[in-house]
Amino acid sequence: MLRRSFLHHAGVAAPALLAAQQQRTLDPRLAELTPRPKPAIALNHLGFLPKARKCVLYRLSGGAEPREFMMREIGSGPPFRVTRPLKRVPSDLGDCMSGDFTDVEREGMYQITIAGEISVPFFIRPDVWRRTLPKAFSFYPQKRCGTAVPNVHPLCHMDDARRRDNGQHIDMTGGWHDAGDLRKWMTSALLSGTALSHMVRNLGDAWDLAGSGLGPVLDEIKWGNRYWRKMQDIDGRIFNDVAGGVRGDNSDNHWTDNQIGNEDDRYINPSKPNIVQAQFVTVQALLSQIYRSADPEYARQCVPAALRCWNANTPGSDALGLGWWVLAAVEMYRAAGDIRWAEQAASLAGRLVALQNRDFTGEQKLVRGFWRTSSDDRSPLLHHCFPGIPAIALMEAAKALPDHTDARRWRDSVRLYLDEYVLPLTSRNAYRIMPFGIFNGSPSAEKYRPLAGGLTYRYFMPVARGAHGLTSHFESFAAMLATAGRAFQNKEYTDLAYRQLEWIMGANPFGACLMTGEGMRNPYPHSRYEGLAVGAIMNGMGGNENDEPVLDTEYGFDWHTTEYWQPHNAWYLWTHSVLEGRWA
Ligand SMILES: [Zn+2]
Repeated sequence: MLRRSFLHHAGVAAPALLAAQQQRTLDPRLAELTPRPKPAIALNHLGFLPKARKCVLYRLSGGAEPREFMMREIGSGPPFRVTRPLKRVPSDLGDCMSGDFTDVEREGMYQITIAGEISVPFFIRPDVWRRTLPKAFSFYPQKRCGTAVPNVHPLCHMDDARRRDNGQHIDMTGGWHDAGDLRKWMTSALLSGTALSHMVRNLGDAWDLAGSGLGPVLDEIKWGNRYWRKMQDIDGRIFNDVAGGVRGDNSDNHWTDNQIGNEDDRYINPSKPNIVQAQFVTVQALLSQIYRSADPEYARQCVPAALRCWNANTPGSDALGLGWWVLAAVEMYRAAGDIRWAEQAASLAGRLVALQNRDFTGEQKLVRGFWRTSSDDRSPLLHHCFPGIPAIALMEAAKALPDHTDARRWRDSVRLYLDEYVLPLTSRNAYRIMPFGIFNGSPSAEKYRPLAGGLTYRYFMPVARGAHGLTSHFESFAAMLATAGRAFQNKEYTDLAYRQLEWIMGANPFGACLMTGEGMRNPYPHSRYEGLAVGAIMNGMGGNENDEPVLDTEYGFDWHTTEYWQPHNAWYLWTHSVLEGRWA
Protein backbone atom coordinates (compact mmCIF):
# COMPACT_ATOMS: atom_id res chain seq x y z
CA MET A 1 0.00 0.00 0.00
CA LEU A 2 2.81 2.32 0.87
CA ARG A 3 4.65 1.63 -2.34
CA ARG A 4 1.47 2.02 -4.27
CA SER A 5 0.92 5.44 -2.82
CA PHE A 6 4.45 6.56 -3.59
CA LEU A 7 4.23 5.16 -7.07
CA HIS A 8 1.35 7.41 -7.86
CA HIS A 9 3.04 10.61 -7.00
CA ALA A 10 2.77 13.46 -9.46
CA GLY A 11 1.15 13.66 -12.80
CA VAL A 12 -1.82 15.76 -13.81
CA ALA A 13 -5.56 15.55 -14.02
CA ALA A 14 -6.01 16.98 -17.52
CA PRO A 15 -6.40 14.05 -19.96
CA ALA A 16 -4.16 15.48 -22.68
CA LEU A 17 -1.34 16.08 -20.28
CA LEU A 18 -1.90 12.73 -18.64
CA ALA A 19 -1.58 11.00 -21.99
CA ALA A 20 1.63 12.88 -22.67
CA GLN A 21 2.89 11.91 -19.25
CA GLN A 22 2.17 8.25 -19.88
CA GLN A 23 4.19 8.39 -23.05
CA ARG A 24 7.09 9.61 -21.01
CA THR A 25 7.25 6.63 -18.68
CA LEU A 26 10.57 5.08 -17.88
CA ASP A 27 10.75 2.19 -20.30
CA PRO A 28 10.52 3.68 -23.83
CA ARG A 29 13.25 6.18 -23.10
CA LEU A 30 15.77 3.88 -21.47
CA ALA A 31 18.32 4.28 -24.22
CA GLU A 32 18.32 8.05 -23.74
CA LEU A 33 18.50 7.90 -19.98
CA THR A 34 21.56 5.68 -19.48
CA PRO A 35 24.97 7.27 -18.77
CA ARG A 36 27.04 8.76 -21.59
CA PRO A 37 30.84 8.48 -21.72
CA LYS A 38 31.23 12.03 -20.40
CA PRO A 39 31.42 13.05 -17.66
CA ALA A 40 33.67 10.16 -16.76
CA ILE A 41 34.62 11.68 -13.42
CA ALA A 42 32.30 10.71 -10.58
CA LEU A 43 32.91 12.86 -7.53
CA ASN A 44 30.83 14.32 -4.74
CA HIS A 45 30.14 17.92 -5.82
CA LEU A 46 29.98 19.37 -2.32
CA GLY A 47 33.36 18.08 -1.23
CA PHE A 48 34.70 16.48 1.90
CA LEU A 49 35.28 16.95 5.59
CA PRO A 50 39.02 17.34 6.28
CA LYS A 51 39.21 14.00 8.13
CA ALA A 52 36.89 12.08 5.80
CA ARG A 53 37.83 9.31 3.43
CA LYS A 54 38.12 10.96 0.01
CA CYS A 55 37.95 9.29 -3.35
CA VAL A 56 37.43 10.16 -7.00
CA LEU A 57 36.19 7.67 -9.60
CA TYR A 58 36.75 7.71 -13.36
CA ARG A 59 34.33 5.59 -15.37
CA LEU A 60 35.95 3.42 -18.03
CA SER A 61 34.18 3.16 -21.37
CA GLY A 62 36.49 1.00 -23.45
CA GLY A 63 39.21 3.53 -24.20
CA ALA A 64 42.61 4.00 -22.62
CA GLU A 65 42.92 3.66 -18.86
CA PRO A 66 44.26 6.85 -17.30
CA ARG A 67 46.91 6.07 -14.74
CA GLU A 68 46.91 9.23 -12.62
CA PHE A 69 44.87 12.19 -11.49
CA MET A 70 45.96 15.75 -10.79
CA MET A 71 44.44 17.74 -7.94
CA ARG A 72 44.99 21.45 -7.42
CA GLU A 73 43.80 24.29 -5.25
CA ILE A 74 41.69 26.81 -7.19
CA GLY A 75 40.46 29.01 -4.33
CA SER A 76 42.32 31.65 -2.42
CA GLY A 77 44.57 29.31 -0.47
CA PRO A 78 48.30 28.88 -0.97
CA PRO A 79 49.27 27.04 -4.17
CA PHE A 80 48.77 23.29 -3.95
CA ARG A 81 49.07 20.68 -6.66
CA VAL A 82 49.57 16.92 -6.47
CA THR A 83 49.52 14.07 -8.93
CA ARG A 84 48.41 10.69 -7.66
CA PRO A 85 47.99 7.21 -9.10
CA LEU A 86 44.67 5.70 -10.15
CA LYS A 87 43.85 2.08 -9.45
CA ARG A 88 41.54 -0.06 -11.55
CA VAL A 89 38.47 -1.28 -9.65
CA PRO A 90 36.35 -4.06 -11.17
CA SER A 91 32.80 -3.01 -10.45
CA ASP A 92 29.16 -3.64 -11.02
CA LEU A 93 27.69 -0.61 -12.83
CA GLY A 94 30.88 -0.38 -14.90
CA ASP A 95 34.59 -0.73 -14.11
CA CYS A 96 36.27 2.38 -12.77
CA MET A 97 39.66 3.86 -12.02
CA SER A 98 39.76 4.98 -8.40
CA GLY A 99 41.95 7.63 -6.81
CA ASP A 100 42.40 8.28 -3.11
CA PHE A 101 43.28 11.63 -1.52
CA THR A 102 42.20 10.96 2.05
CA ASP A 103 45.44 12.44 3.36
CA VAL A 104 44.74 15.87 1.84
CA GLU A 105 43.19 17.58 4.85
CA ARG A 106 44.04 21.23 4.25
CA GLU A 107 40.97 23.41 3.79
CA GLY A 108 40.45 24.83 0.36
CA MET A 109 38.62 24.68 -2.95
CA TYR A 110 39.91 22.14 -5.42
CA GLN A 111 39.55 20.65 -8.85
CA ILE A 112 40.67 17.29 -10.17
CA THR A 113 41.78 16.63 -13.74
CA ILE A 114 41.83 13.16 -15.28
CA ALA A 115 42.67 12.50 -18.95
CA GLY A 116 41.82 16.10 -19.89
CA GLU A 117 38.46 16.12 -18.09
CA ILE A 118 38.08 18.67 -15.29
CA SER A 119 35.90 17.92 -12.27
CA VAL A 120 33.31 20.17 -10.69
CA PRO A 121 35.03 22.45 -8.13
CA PHE A 122 34.66 21.12 -4.59
CA PHE A 123 35.63 22.06 -1.05
CA ILE A 124 37.55 20.45 1.73
CA ARG A 125 36.23 22.20 4.86
CA PRO A 126 34.67 21.27 8.20
CA ASP A 127 31.21 22.66 7.37
CA VAL A 128 30.98 21.20 3.88
CA TRP A 129 27.78 19.28 4.71
CA ARG A 130 26.48 21.32 7.64
CA ARG A 131 26.19 24.45 5.53
CA THR A 132 23.63 22.68 3.31
CA LEU A 133 21.20 21.89 6.14
CA PRO A 134 19.29 25.21 6.09
CA LYS A 135 18.94 24.80 2.32
CA ALA A 136 17.58 21.27 2.68
CA PHE A 137 15.31 22.37 5.53
CA SER A 138 13.89 25.23 3.43
CA PHE A 139 12.03 22.57 1.45
CA TYR A 140 9.39 22.58 4.20
CA PRO A 141 8.38 26.26 4.36
CA GLN A 142 8.37 26.25 0.55
CA LYS A 143 5.93 23.33 0.55
CA ARG A 144 3.38 24.72 3.00
CA CYS A 145 -0.25 24.09 2.05
CA GLY A 146 -3.28 26.06 3.32
CA THR A 147 -1.45 29.35 3.25
CA ALA A 148 0.16 31.69 0.75
CA VAL A 149 3.87 31.10 0.23
CA PRO A 150 5.77 34.12 -1.15
CA ASN A 151 7.51 33.38 -4.47
CA VAL A 152 5.80 29.97 -4.65
CA HIS A 153 2.00 30.13 -4.68
CA PRO A 154 -1.00 32.17 -3.43
CA LEU A 155 -3.40 30.87 -0.76
CA CYS A 156 -4.23 27.25 -1.55
CA HIS A 157 -6.46 24.33 -0.63
CA MET A 158 -8.53 26.07 2.05
CA ASP A 159 -11.31 23.66 1.05
CA ASP A 160 -9.45 20.47 2.06
CA ALA A 161 -11.18 18.05 2.36
CA ARG A 162 -14.15 15.66 2.12
CA ARG A 163 -14.21 11.97 3.03
CA ARG A 164 -14.13 9.59 0.11
CA ASP A 165 -16.65 7.26 1.72
CA ASN A 166 -19.45 9.59 2.88
CA GLY A 167 -18.55 13.01 1.49
CA GLN A 168 -18.39 14.64 4.94
CA HIS A 169 -16.24 17.78 5.02
CA ILE A 170 -13.60 17.83 7.76
CA ASP A 171 -11.06 20.65 8.11
CA MET A 172 -7.80 19.18 6.83
CA THR A 173 -6.12 22.41 5.78
CA GLY A 174 -2.40 22.80 6.41
CA GLY A 175 0.58 20.51 6.19
CA TRP A 176 2.97 20.45 3.29
CA HIS A 177 2.57 19.60 -0.39
CA ASP A 178 4.22 16.24 -0.55
CA ALA A 179 6.48 16.38 -3.56
CA GLY A 180 6.49 17.74 -7.09
CA ASP A 181 2.74 17.31 -6.63
CA LEU A 182 0.15 18.83 -4.30
CA ARG A 183 -0.92 15.77 -2.34
CA LYS A 184 -0.54 15.22 1.39
CA TRP A 185 0.56 11.70 2.36
CA MET A 186 1.00 10.90 6.04
CA THR A 187 3.81 8.36 5.51
CA SER A 188 6.00 11.10 4.04
CA ALA A 189 4.93 13.83 6.45
CA LEU A 190 5.46 11.70 9.55
CA LEU A 191 8.89 10.62 8.33
CA SER A 192 9.62 14.35 8.09
CA GLY A 193 8.32 14.87 11.62
CA THR A 194 10.61 12.11 12.85
CA ALA A 195 13.62 13.40 10.91
CA LEU A 196 13.21 17.04 11.96
CA SER A 197 12.82 15.96 15.60
CA HIS A 198 16.04 13.96 15.37
CA MET A 199 17.76 17.02 13.92
CA VAL A 200 16.55 19.16 16.82
CA ARG A 201 17.67 16.53 19.32
CA ASN A 202 21.05 15.79 17.72
CA LEU A 203 22.18 19.25 16.64
CA GLY A 204 20.21 21.79 18.66
CA ASP A 205 21.05 25.38 17.70
CA ALA A 206 24.07 24.13 15.76
CA TRP A 207 21.82 22.90 12.94
CA ASP A 208 22.32 26.32 11.33
CA LEU A 209 25.80 27.75 11.52
CA ALA A 210 24.42 31.20 10.62
CA GLY A 211 22.84 31.28 14.09
CA SER A 212 19.12 31.39 13.36
CA GLY A 213 18.54 29.10 16.35
CA LEU A 214 15.93 26.35 16.62
CA GLY A 215 12.97 28.72 16.32
CA PRO A 216 12.36 28.22 12.59
CA VAL A 217 12.54 24.41 12.91
CA LEU A 218 10.24 24.26 15.94
CA ASP A 219 7.75 26.57 14.19
CA GLU A 220 7.81 24.44 11.05
CA ILE A 221 7.23 21.20 12.98
CA LYS A 222 4.26 22.83 14.74
CA TRP A 223 2.90 23.82 11.33
CA GLY A 224 3.14 20.19 10.23
CA ASN A 225 1.71 18.85 13.45
CA ARG A 226 -1.42 21.01 13.23
CA TYR A 227 -2.33 18.99 10.15
CA TRP A 228 -1.18 15.63 11.55
CA ARG A 229 -3.41 16.12 14.60
CA LYS A 230 -6.38 16.90 12.35
CA MET A 231 -5.74 13.58 10.63
CA GLN A 232 -6.42 11.73 13.90
CA ASP A 233 -9.97 10.39 13.64
CA ILE A 234 -12.31 10.29 16.65
CA ASP A 235 -11.38 6.62 17.11
CA GLY A 236 -7.78 7.66 17.77
CA ARG A 237 -6.47 6.27 14.49
CA ILE A 238 -4.81 8.25 11.69
CA PHE A 239 -6.10 8.70 8.14
CA ASN A 240 -3.74 7.82 5.29
CA ASP A 241 -3.79 10.92 3.11
CA VAL A 242 -5.56 13.95 1.75
CA ALA A 243 -5.73 14.25 -2.03
CA GLY A 244 -3.82 11.05 -2.68
CA GLY A 245 -6.14 10.43 -5.58
CA VAL A 246 -9.34 8.44 -5.70
CA ARG A 247 -8.60 4.99 -7.19
CA GLY A 248 -4.89 5.77 -6.97
CA ASP A 249 -5.10 8.24 -9.83
CA ASN A 250 -4.21 11.91 -10.19
CA SER A 251 -7.75 13.26 -9.85
CA ASP A 252 -7.01 15.18 -6.63
CA ASN A 253 -3.66 16.54 -7.73
CA HIS A 254 -4.77 20.07 -8.64
CA TRP A 255 -5.27 23.60 -7.34
CA THR A 256 -8.72 24.42 -5.97
CA ASP A 257 -10.87 27.56 -5.57
CA ASN A 258 -10.59 27.49 -1.73
CA GLN A 259 -14.43 27.37 -1.49
CA ILE A 260 -15.81 24.48 0.58
CA GLY A 261 -18.59 22.39 -0.89
CA ASN A 262 -18.11 22.35 -4.65
CA GLU A 263 -16.74 19.95 -7.21
CA ASP A 264 -13.05 20.80 -6.95
CA ASP A 265 -12.83 19.89 -3.26
CA ARG A 266 -10.26 17.18 -2.65
CA TYR A 267 -10.78 13.93 -0.76
CA ILE A 268 -9.67 12.41 2.55
CA ASN A 269 -8.62 8.79 2.24
CA PRO A 270 -10.26 7.23 5.30
CA SER A 271 -8.07 4.10 5.29
CA LYS A 272 -5.72 3.83 8.27
CA PRO A 273 -2.59 1.76 7.47
CA ASN A 274 -0.82 0.22 10.44
CA ILE A 275 2.57 1.80 9.67
CA VAL A 276 1.07 5.32 9.74
CA GLN A 277 -0.25 4.66 13.25
CA ALA A 278 3.24 3.71 14.49
CA GLN A 279 4.75 6.75 12.80
CA PHE A 280 2.19 9.05 14.43
CA VAL A 281 2.93 7.70 17.93
CA THR A 282 6.66 8.04 17.25
CA VAL A 283 6.31 11.66 16.19
CA GLN A 284 4.04 12.75 19.06
CA ALA A 285 6.39 11.12 21.56
CA LEU A 286 9.36 12.88 19.96
CA LEU A 287 7.57 16.22 20.03
CA SER A 288 6.76 15.86 23.71
CA GLN A 289 10.52 15.66 24.26
CA ILE A 290 11.82 18.36 21.95
CA TYR A 291 9.29 21.00 23.10
CA ARG A 292 9.78 20.21 26.78
CA SER A 293 11.88 23.29 27.46
CA ALA A 294 10.80 25.56 24.58
CA ASP A 295 7.03 25.12 25.06
CA PRO A 296 6.13 22.84 27.99
CA GLU A 297 2.38 23.19 27.52
CA TYR A 298 2.66 22.12 23.87
CA ALA A 299 4.89 19.22 24.87
CA ARG A 300 2.28 17.99 27.35
CA GLN A 301 -0.44 17.88 24.66
CA CYS A 302 1.52 15.43 22.55
CA VAL A 303 1.49 12.41 24.85
CA PRO A 304 -2.32 12.08 25.10
CA ALA A 305 -2.57 12.19 21.29
CA ALA A 306 0.06 9.46 21.06
CA LEU A 307 -1.72 7.37 23.70
CA ARG A 308 -5.07 7.59 21.93
CA CYS A 309 -3.41 6.27 18.78
CA TRP A 310 -1.39 3.58 20.55
CA ASN A 311 -4.47 2.26 22.38
CA ALA A 312 -6.53 2.10 19.20
CA ASN A 313 -4.05 -0.06 17.29
CA THR A 314 -2.28 -3.42 17.35
CA PRO A 315 1.21 -3.70 15.84
CA GLY A 316 1.36 -5.86 12.72
CA SER A 317 3.87 -8.60 11.96
CA ASP A 318 5.91 -7.04 9.14
CA ALA A 319 9.53 -5.97 9.61
CA LEU A 320 9.03 -2.36 8.54
CA GLY A 321 5.95 -1.87 10.67
CA LEU A 322 7.60 -3.50 13.66
CA GLY A 323 10.59 -1.22 13.19
CA TRP A 324 8.34 1.82 13.46
CA TRP A 325 6.45 0.31 16.46
CA VAL A 326 9.78 -0.26 18.23
CA LEU A 327 10.66 3.40 17.61
CA ALA A 328 7.21 4.40 18.90
CA ALA A 329 7.64 2.47 22.15
CA VAL A 330 11.22 3.69 22.64
CA GLU A 331 10.18 7.32 22.20
CA MET A 332 7.17 6.84 24.51
CA TYR A 333 9.58 5.47 27.10
CA ARG A 334 11.82 8.50 26.66
CA ALA A 335 8.81 10.82 26.78
CA ALA A 336 7.03 9.30 29.77
CA GLY A 337 9.83 7.43 31.58
CA ASP A 338 7.43 4.61 32.45
CA ILE A 339 9.08 1.18 32.62
CA ARG A 340 6.04 -0.39 30.94
CA TRP A 341 7.05 1.36 27.73
CA ALA A 342 10.49 -0.20 28.05
CA GLU A 343 8.91 -3.64 28.20
CA GLN A 344 6.74 -2.83 25.19
CA ALA A 345 9.83 -1.75 23.27
CA ALA A 346 11.72 -4.90 24.29
CA SER A 347 8.86 -7.18 23.32
CA LEU A 348 8.47 -5.53 19.90
CA ALA A 349 12.25 -5.58 19.34
CA GLY A 350 12.23 -9.31 20.10
CA ARG A 351 9.58 -9.85 17.43
CA LEU A 352 11.68 -7.85 14.98
CA VAL A 353 14.85 -9.83 15.70
CA ALA A 354 12.86 -13.02 15.10
CA LEU A 355 12.30 -11.83 11.51
CA GLN A 356 16.03 -11.83 10.79
CA ASN A 357 17.57 -14.60 8.68
CA ARG A 358 20.32 -15.58 11.08
CA ASP A 359 21.14 -18.74 9.13
CA PHE A 360 22.35 -18.95 5.55
CA THR A 361 19.50 -19.62 3.14
CA GLY A 362 19.26 -20.22 -0.59
CA GLU A 363 22.16 -22.73 -0.78
CA GLN A 364 24.86 -20.13 -0.25
CA LYS A 365 27.25 -18.97 2.48
CA LEU A 366 27.86 -15.39 1.37
CA VAL A 367 25.15 -13.30 2.97
CA ARG A 368 22.81 -13.62 5.93
CA GLY A 369 21.30 -11.38 8.54
CA PHE A 370 18.80 -9.65 6.23
CA TRP A 371 15.16 -9.19 7.25
CA ARG A 372 12.27 -11.29 6.09
CA THR A 373 9.34 -9.20 4.88
CA SER A 374 7.02 -10.48 7.62
CA SER A 375 6.22 -13.54 9.71
CA ASP A 376 4.01 -14.75 6.84
CA ASP A 377 6.26 -13.72 3.95
CA ARG A 378 9.79 -15.13 4.04
CA SER A 379 11.05 -13.19 1.02
CA PRO A 380 13.83 -10.67 1.77
CA LEU A 381 12.58 -7.24 2.83
CA LEU A 382 12.62 -4.66 0.04
CA HIS A 383 11.57 -1.05 0.39
CA HIS A 384 12.36 2.12 -1.51
CA CYS A 385 11.98 4.51 1.40
CA PHE A 386 12.36 2.85 4.81
CA PRO A 387 14.87 -0.03 4.46
CA GLY A 388 17.09 1.30 7.27
CA ILE A 389 14.26 1.53 9.80
CA PRO A 390 14.46 -1.97 11.39
CA ALA A 391 18.18 -1.66 12.21
CA ILE A 392 17.79 1.97 13.33
CA ALA A 393 14.97 0.88 15.64
CA LEU A 394 17.07 -1.85 17.27
CA MET A 395 19.98 0.57 17.79
CA GLU A 396 17.63 3.15 19.33
CA ALA A 397 16.22 0.46 21.63
CA ALA A 398 19.73 -0.56 22.73
CA LYS A 399 20.67 3.07 23.28
CA ALA A 400 17.55 3.87 25.32
CA LEU A 401 17.69 0.60 27.31
CA PRO A 402 21.41 -0.22 27.54
CA ASP A 403 20.98 -2.40 30.63
CA HIS A 404 18.08 -4.45 29.35
CA THR A 405 18.84 -8.17 29.24
CA ASP A 406 18.08 -8.22 25.51
CA ALA A 407 20.11 -5.14 24.56
CA ARG A 408 23.10 -7.20 23.51
CA ARG A 409 20.87 -9.33 21.30
CA TRP A 410 19.58 -6.22 19.52
CA ARG A 411 23.10 -4.93 18.97
CA ASP A 412 24.31 -8.33 17.74
CA SER A 413 21.39 -8.48 15.33
CA VAL A 414 22.42 -5.16 13.79
CA ARG A 415 26.07 -6.21 13.57
CA LEU A 416 25.10 -9.38 11.74
CA TYR A 417 22.95 -7.37 9.34
CA LEU A 418 25.78 -4.91 8.68
CA ASP A 419 28.76 -7.26 8.49
CA GLU A 420 27.21 -10.16 6.65
CA TYR A 421 24.67 -8.43 4.45
CA VAL A 422 25.30 -4.69 3.95
CA LEU A 423 29.11 -4.75 3.71
CA PRO A 424 29.35 -7.69 1.27
CA LEU A 425 26.75 -6.12 -1.03
CA THR A 426 28.24 -2.62 -1.02
CA SER A 427 31.68 -4.04 -1.84
CA ARG A 428 30.52 -5.15 -5.29
CA ASN A 429 30.56 -1.67 -6.85
CA ALA A 430 33.10 1.14 -6.93
CA TYR A 431 30.59 3.69 -5.62
CA ARG A 432 29.95 1.48 -2.57
CA ILE A 433 26.21 2.03 -2.83
CA MET A 434 23.79 -0.42 -1.26
CA PRO A 435 21.80 -2.40 -3.83
CA PHE A 436 18.00 -2.27 -3.67
CA GLY A 437 18.01 -5.79 -2.30
CA ILE A 438 18.29 -9.53 -2.84
CA PHE A 439 15.84 -11.92 -4.40
CA ASN A 440 15.17 -15.63 -4.60
CA GLY A 441 15.96 -16.38 -8.25
CA SER A 442 14.50 -14.16 -10.96
CA PRO A 443 10.96 -13.12 -10.12
CA SER A 444 10.47 -11.28 -13.44
CA ALA A 445 11.86 -11.42 -16.98
CA GLU A 446 14.72 -8.94 -16.55
CA LYS A 447 18.26 -8.97 -15.26
CA TYR A 448 18.87 -10.23 -11.73
CA ARG A 449 22.56 -10.35 -10.87
CA PRO A 450 23.73 -13.74 -9.58
CA LEU A 451 24.91 -13.47 -5.98
CA ALA A 452 25.44 -16.99 -4.66
CA GLY A 453 23.41 -20.18 -4.61
CA GLY A 454 19.83 -19.35 -5.48
CA LEU A 455 20.10 -15.71 -4.49
CA THR A 456 20.25 -12.77 -6.88
CA TYR A 457 20.35 -9.01 -6.40
CA ARG A 458 19.51 -5.78 -8.14
CA TYR A 459 20.76 -2.26 -7.55
CA PHE A 460 17.47 -0.83 -8.71
CA MET A 461 13.80 -1.73 -8.47
CA PRO A 462 12.59 -4.37 -10.92
CA VAL A 463 10.95 -2.57 -13.80
CA ALA A 464 8.25 -5.23 -13.95
CA ARG A 465 6.97 -4.12 -10.54
CA GLY A 466 7.03 -0.44 -11.40
CA ALA A 467 10.32 1.31 -10.81
CA HIS A 468 11.48 4.76 -9.84
CA GLY A 469 14.60 6.45 -8.48
CA LEU A 470 15.97 5.35 -5.14
CA THR A 471 17.31 8.44 -3.39
CA SER A 472 15.46 7.64 -0.16
CA HIS A 473 16.67 4.04 -0.26
CA PHE A 474 20.29 5.19 -0.34
CA GLU A 475 19.71 7.90 2.27
CA SER A 476 17.84 5.52 4.55
CA PHE A 477 20.88 3.22 4.46
CA ALA A 478 23.06 6.28 5.06
CA ALA A 479 21.08 7.15 8.20
CA MET A 480 21.30 3.55 9.41
CA LEU A 481 25.05 3.37 8.71
CA ALA A 482 25.65 6.74 10.37
CA THR A 483 23.76 5.54 13.45
CA ALA A 484 25.80 2.33 13.43
CA GLY A 485 29.03 4.30 13.08
CA ARG A 486 28.09 6.07 16.31
CA ALA A 487 26.66 3.08 18.14
CA PHE A 488 29.62 0.79 17.42
CA GLN A 489 32.35 3.43 17.10
CA ASN A 490 33.10 2.01 13.67
CA LYS A 491 34.57 4.32 11.02
CA GLU A 492 33.94 1.87 8.19
CA TYR A 493 30.18 2.20 8.75
CA THR A 494 30.49 6.00 8.86
CA ASP A 495 32.55 6.08 5.65
CA LEU A 496 29.92 3.96 3.98
CA ALA A 497 27.17 6.34 5.13
CA TYR A 498 29.00 9.16 3.35
CA ARG A 499 29.34 7.10 0.17
CA GLN A 500 25.54 6.78 -0.07
CA LEU A 501 25.22 10.57 0.31
CA GLU A 502 28.00 11.22 -2.17
CA TRP A 503 26.09 9.18 -4.76
CA ILE A 504 23.14 11.58 -4.33
CA MET A 505 25.35 14.66 -4.54
CA GLY A 506 27.31 13.89 -7.69
CA ALA A 507 29.47 10.77 -7.30
CA ASN A 508 27.33 8.83 -9.75
CA PRO A 509 27.60 7.75 -13.40
CA PHE A 510 25.84 10.91 -14.57
CA GLY A 511 28.01 13.32 -12.59
CA ALA A 512 24.70 14.89 -11.53
CA CYS A 513 23.84 16.50 -8.21
CA LEU A 514 20.26 15.73 -7.23
CA MET A 515 19.70 18.72 -4.91
CA THR A 516 18.54 21.87 -6.67
CA GLY A 517 20.86 24.71 -5.74
CA GLU A 518 23.91 22.59 -4.95
CA GLY A 519 26.45 21.04 -7.27
CA MET A 520 26.11 20.92 -11.04
CA ARG A 521 24.30 19.05 -13.82
CA ASN A 522 21.12 19.04 -11.76
CA PRO A 523 18.30 17.55 -13.79
CA TYR A 524 15.28 19.84 -14.26
CA PRO A 525 12.87 18.55 -11.62
CA HIS A 526 9.46 17.08 -12.24
CA SER A 527 7.74 19.86 -10.29
CA ARG A 528 4.83 20.85 -12.45
CA TYR A 529 3.09 23.17 -9.99
CA GLU A 530 5.89 25.05 -8.30
CA GLY A 531 8.94 24.67 -10.55
CA LEU A 532 12.41 24.82 -9.06
CA ALA A 533 12.67 24.59 -5.27
CA VAL A 534 16.09 25.33 -3.86
CA GLY A 535 17.18 22.58 -1.46
CA ALA A 536 14.69 20.00 -2.75
CA ILE A 537 16.08 16.57 -3.68
CA MET A 538 14.98 14.42 -6.61
CA ASN A 539 14.13 10.73 -6.89
CA GLY A 540 17.40 10.23 -8.70
CA MET A 541 18.84 7.18 -10.35
CA GLY A 542 16.50 4.29 -11.01
CA GLY A 543 17.30 1.31 -13.17
CA ASN A 544 16.28 -0.27 -16.44
CA GLU A 545 15.60 -3.94 -17.14
CA ASN A 546 19.34 -4.59 -17.32
CA ASP A 547 19.76 -3.03 -13.88
CA GLU A 548 21.74 -0.16 -15.36
CA PRO A 549 21.25 3.27 -13.78
CA VAL A 550 18.93 5.69 -15.55
CA LEU A 551 18.38 9.42 -14.96
CA ASP A 552 16.50 11.96 -17.04
CA THR A 553 19.07 14.65 -17.77
CA GLU A 554 17.35 15.70 -21.02
CA TYR A 555 14.43 17.78 -19.68
CA GLY A 556 12.05 14.87 -20.25
CA PHE A 557 10.05 15.77 -17.12
CA ASP A 558 10.29 12.11 -16.10
CA TRP A 559 8.80 11.85 -12.60
CA HIS A 560 10.41 8.48 -11.90
CA THR A 561 13.88 9.97 -11.68
CA THR A 562 13.49 13.74 -11.30
CA GLU A 563 10.48 14.40 -9.08
CA TYR A 564 11.07 16.04 -5.72
CA TRP A 565 9.88 13.82 -2.89
CA GLN A 566 9.62 14.91 0.69
CA PRO A 567 11.27 11.75 2.17
CA HIS A 568 14.55 12.61 0.43
CA ASN A 569 14.86 15.87 2.38
CA ALA A 570 13.77 14.16 5.58
CA TRP A 571 16.44 11.45 5.34
CA TYR A 572 19.09 13.97 4.31
CA LEU A 573 18.53 16.05 7.45
CA TRP A 574 18.19 13.03 9.74
CA THR A 575 21.40 11.45 8.43
CA HIS A 576 23.54 14.56 8.76
CA SER A 577 22.22 15.23 12.25
CA VAL A 578 23.52 11.80 13.25
CA LEU A 579 26.85 12.18 11.46
CA GLU A 580 27.57 15.55 13.07
CA GLY A 581 25.46 15.50 16.18
CA ARG A 582 25.54 14.57 19.81
CA TRP A 583 25.45 10.91 20.71
CA ALA A 584 24.54 10.90 24.37
ZN1 LIG B 1 -2.05 23.52 -1.04
